[in-house]
Amino acid sequence: MDVRRILLIAFIAFVAAIGGVATGRYLLPAPHQPNAELHLLLHHGLDLDVKQQAQLDELERQFALRKKALEMALRADNARLAAAIQAEHSAGPQVREAVDRIHVAMGELQKETLAHVFAMRAILRPDQAARFDKAVVKALTAESR
Ligand SMILES: [Zn+2]
Repeated sequence: MDVRRILLIAFIAFVAAIGGVATGRYLLPAPHQPNAELHLLLHHGLDLDVKQQAQLDELERQFALRKKALEMALRADNARLAAAIQAEHSAGPQVREAVDRIHVAMGELQKETLAHVFAMRAILRPDQAARFDKAVVKALTAESR
């Protein structure tokens, strides 16, 4: 196999993986995936008072909108990559550009998610925040495996 062929197969696998992630996201209901545990704790485990609950609802509403917009952008980028692969059948300039765009979109989604985690933490009392921090560490270390 020559290098081009290997690269092409790698890209197809990459697209398939991203497609899989996107599909998984849409099939799973409610909570934003990587933070599902965090949200379970936030919504049920920290005894939020009425004011905090209202604040959290507002944060979730804002985040859901931003996340949806970013996911739509990511899907468009995936479609662009698929078209580029069909057009070039190699790791040509269109394919490279499409991959770069996907990385940017994924980075944005991660940044937004982190910002959301910190926004949620900001509404907590110190005792709640301590428990939240433990859950954050746990969620992050579980994911990096
Ligand atoms: Zn949230």
